[in-house]
Amino acid sequence: GFKTGIVGLPNVGKSTLFNALTRTAAAQAANFPFCTIEPNVGEVAVPDARLDTLARIAGSKQIIPTRMTFVDIAGLVKGASKGEGLGNQFLANIRECDAIAHVLRCFEDDDVTHVEGRVDPVADAEVIETELMIADMESIERRLQNLVRKIKGGDKEAIQQERLLKTALAALEQGRPARTVQVADEDARAWELLQLLTAKPVLYVCNVSEAEAATGNAHSAAVARMAEAQGAASVVISARIEEEISQLDAEEAREFLAELGLEEAGLDRLIKAGYRLLGLQTYFTVGPKEARAWTIAAGTPAPRAAGVIHGDFERGFIRAETIAYDDYVTLGGEQAAKDAGRMRSEGKGYVVQDGDVLHFLFNA
Ligand code: GDP
Repeated sequence: GFKTGIVGLPNVGKSTLFNALTRTAAAQAANFPFCTIEPNVGEVAVPDARLDTLARIAGSKQIIPTRMTFVDIAGLVKGASKGEGLGNQFLANIRECDAIAHVLRCFEDDDVTHVEGRVDPVADAEVIETELMIADMESIERRLQNLVRKIKGGDKEAIQQERLLKTALAALEQGRPARTVQVADEDARAWELLQLLTAKPVLYVCNVSEAEAATGNAHSAAVARMAEAQGAASVVISARIEEEISQLDAEEAREFLAELGLEEAGLDRLIKAGYRLLGLQTYFTVGPKEARAWTIAAGTPAPRAAGVIHGDFERGFIRAETIAYDDYVTLGGEQAAKDAGRMRSEGKGYVVQDGDVLHFLFNA
């Protein structure tokens, strides 16, 4: 599945947010740096109102949302690339993630120690980014050395890797993260396999006080400007509020949000932003038994999309019966869409579209 790593300096609210995200008390929040040492992994349902609509139309007994994984990666501090503050383990944990949610402290509270002794989220972001950039440069230098022999032997993959690593290194030496490098289509896969830390898409999460959750504040506005300049994304959230909401039932949560002047829980916005950031899409399978959402990367052909459900679906793929979400809803269900000629039969080359309602036909 797709994994987002939650990073940030100590005491910015990572654990609070992670707890709220996964609705567990497993990752304990405490006013103390390094309190969460093991990386905590949690799965969250991706909120999608379309799934409820489809289930209502089809009379599905069960609704199963698609999920995404969050990992709470604590302990990234200044000097992490030098192995300080349990650095290397954390860098390895980040390497395994598809995207980074970078939590920034945008709340003032004298009772909560700030490791740098002041609230300045833009400077905090730079502290972490610098560590990740140093770590990338060191790993690139190492890898370039390891490639020398293979390149002498004329290994084509090694030559491609060297070219990409040198491009990344040049950007990093100019103070730019690897995600600012434009990669040609034919290099995209090899680039991804390099797993550079600063090539991963970043979502800045501005943790503001309860009172500023609806409006944001000067700190979160500064982060939004920084994000825009970097081609990254940002959301404003109050981890404290999210923690409270995570303990309420749906009705109570709606009332609480309305009192605060919020339309949607910050976590829902966070999860959706993470989904967008990763370039993910959803397709649906809908029947009387269940309505279910499935996650794919944008641009996924039908057989590989089928493989998300089961490997046999991909191996034995024959075709996909496809109804666009809007057709399904406007016409009022599968049979009506079929009668109106809006159910298409698509083959192996079909690229699944966001919101498609699919049936896969396959050889068992
Ligand atoms: P982590 O080290 O980044 O995981 O931070 P924690 O989630 O453990 O939070 C550190 C401390 O800050 C805890 O005492 C939290 O209750 C507190 N905290 C988190 N978010 C907020 C917030 O929005 N406002 C205030 N005042 N305190 C917060």
